[in-house]
Amino acid sequence: MARTTRDTEAVEPTSGQRAPAEQQRWQLVPAPVPPTRGAHRLDLRTTIAIDIGRLAAAMSRRLGLGSGAMIGGRLALSLQPQVLRRLAVGRRVVMVTGTNGKTTTTRMVAEALRSRAPAVSNATGANMLDGHVAALMTQPNAPFAALEVDELHLAQVTAQFEPAVILLLNLSRDQLDRVGEIRTVAESLRRALAGAPGARVIANRDDPNIVFAAAEHPGVTWISGGVRWKGDALNCPRCGAFLGEADRDWRCECGLARPEADWTVTADAAVAADGTRRELDLALPGQVNRVNATFALAAAGHLGCDPNAAVQRIQRITQAAGRYGTVRLAGRTVRLLLAKNPASWLEMLDLVSAEQQPLVLVVNSREADGHDVSWLWDVDFELLGGRPVRVAGDRALDLAVRLHYAGVRATVAGTVEDALAGTGDGVPDVIANYTAFRDLVARSRS
Ligand SMILES: [Zn+2]
Repeated sequence: MARTTRDTEAVEPTSGQRAPAEQQRWQLVPAPVPPTRGAHRLDLRTTIAIDIGRLAAAMSRRLGLGSGAMIGGRLALSLQPQVLRRLAVGRRVVMVTGTNGKTTTTRMVAEALRSRAPAVSNATGANMLDGHVAALMTQPNAPFAALEVDELHLAQVTAQFEPAVILLLNLSRDQLDRVGEIRTVAESLRRALAGAPGARVIANRDDPNIVFAAAEHPGVTWISGGVRWKGDALNCPRCGAFLGEADRDWRCECGLARPEADWTVTADAAVAADGTRRELDLALPGQVNRVNATFALAAAGHLGCDPNAAVQRIQRITQAAGRYGTVRLAGRTVRLLLAKNPASWLEMLDLVSAEQQPLVLVVNSREADGHDVSWLWDVDFELLGGRPVRVAGDRALDLAVRLHYAGVRATVAGTVEDALAGTGDGVPDVIANYTAFRDLVARSRS
């Protein structure tokens, strides 16, 4: 087990006046950087599994089959089922999960940790165990790791080792035909946290499903991160009673209640319960990214990073695996935004509704997107007002019908390139769902 020096990292209360729950945050004494070289010897079987995994990854890259991360991680796992546990020994691992914002927040956590020491990360978003093994294999001596994890796979991770920090961002419906009921996911996260009682959990207090998942954990830092999509937050996740608006104080008759915030995210800063402000002047746009940054800073602070150094690194991030990046496409400079479920569509529409750049929306419905696009009717496209929009993708017609009923004038294009050709001056925003976004990143030049 990766139980290292956890008990040295929390500040002991200096008086009895402050509750233990208020003792974490960014005024921590620095936690020791875990020892690196030679700190732990890997057994022969693990060493061989890692060597063969790396070889397979290198061959895969050489043959032009991709980064090789998945095949390398998968092979190492098949040769040594304990490889994840073994690779985690001696490191401080931050796991990031939730429906939306995982990839961007993981990037922020990795950057923040690098202000103190080397950190590995599954930056391409391979967020199941093979992706974690692949990331940890890249630098077995890096003392930190920032790992994005699929919501349903956190329990598998905590069954293998105890992360130092677990970030629970939000939970909402996403690809329903794959993941199933949101309550199932919340229950899975709750069980995962029960397997990591010594981890610091950093969780969104405005999302009742996250509150349910984390409420029984002994070490939670609560961030008031908001919940823009309220459709999955109306009823108590524990007993089913009606809660109403989740972003006000609520207490269910079963005892579940909205916790006090340790950090609140404003339009320009993260503010602690004691009034401490941390200005957030991010290159990444929107409230959603200030929330993500606050999660990352809380994690880095818990692991002893200097908050000023951490925030400076986070502020410089301009894209995460293509999200929010500016690229060249069809002879135009465009900004790529990913939206894959009602909650993230609301975030992205909120972002672009404050601007007047040309707008292209792209929706596919392939396996990785989920075939069912009925969620289009859950998204408040009325936010776009009377703005002209061009639409493309496999389900451009469904999208155009939805937009029509939202009072938005939509022009259907055969391809994204055609859609861009018809837009006016400016830097168009292209909001695309998962496979559409992935294909655009592959076709574009940064
Ligand atoms: Zn209840």
